[in-house]
Amino acid sequence: MVRAEKVRKHFGPLEVLKGVDLEVERGEVVCLIGPSGSGKSTFLRCINHLETVDGGRIWVDGQVVGYQRRGRKLLELGDREICRQRTEIGMVFQHFNLFPHMTVLQNLIEAPLRALREPRDEATARALALLEQVGLADKAGAYPRHLSGGQQQRVAIARALCMRPKLMLFDEPTSALDPELVGDVLTVMRELAESGMTMIVVTHEMGFAREVADRVVFFDAGQAVEVGPAQQVITDPRHARTKAFLAAVR
Ligand code: ATP
Ligand code: MG
Repeated sequence: MVRAEKVRKHFGPLEVLKGVDLEVERGEVVCLIGPSGSGKSTFLRCINHLETVDGGRIWVDGQVVGYQRRGRKLLELGDREICRQRTEIGMVFQHFNLFPHMTVLQNLIEAPLRALREPRDEATARALALLEQVGLADKAGAYPRHLSGGQQQRVAIARALCMRPKLMLFDEPTSALDPELVGDVLTVMRELAESGMTMIVVTHEMGFAREVADRVVFFDAGQAVEVGPAQQVITDPRHARTKAFLAAVR
């Protein structure tokens, strides 16, 4: 579903991604772990073209991110096509980024109405079903400010799912939450994983990574230093830098 090959990215003189390779199969859950500043968010943002890569290439479901094929040539996509590519990828951030002036239901149907031109009744029915799925069926009419952080994050997940994404990207979805609210969000993510969604999750939740992820990637200084089955990377890391990181976060 995702293939990244030798992905490079720099900001000015700072090399943030130094040739990252990664393949994620359809239905697979991959967690990215690693120290602050190692390039995890930047890598995630490259996958849905919130950042352009300086070198290398990323494919999502067989399409090169940011480009289209014309004969033997790859042409850069315009803004509209980039938006269309992006509709197929759901992204959930640390800060939920809900529209504050819209109810939960309006937040959910906004993109399907505008970007997918879905009929309103269809979008609404789907939104209500997704709210049920994340345990918030009774909050459709509420405004984000009246919800807890954990509830807002579950709305953000439902909102991303409304677009019927092929792939879900999560960037530290529970890092801004009070500890007692983390569990509900992780439960929703676990159920999503079990339903077969392809997911790439940047997280500090080692328990989640060990139990839910198929594979874990340890990022350090712009490189995927260690990639392997979740259980192995977390409980029996091979690389010295992975060992040091895990010892420090435990
Ligand atoms: P954290 O765990 O703290 O979220 P991270 O692994 O997600 O860290 P990134 O956010 O990808 O790290 O950042 C990697 C490096 O790139 C950092 O040094 C950061 O300061 C730098 N960086 C990220 N975005 C930009 C930008 N838009 N302009 C300049 N530098 C940036
Ligand atoms: Mg980050």
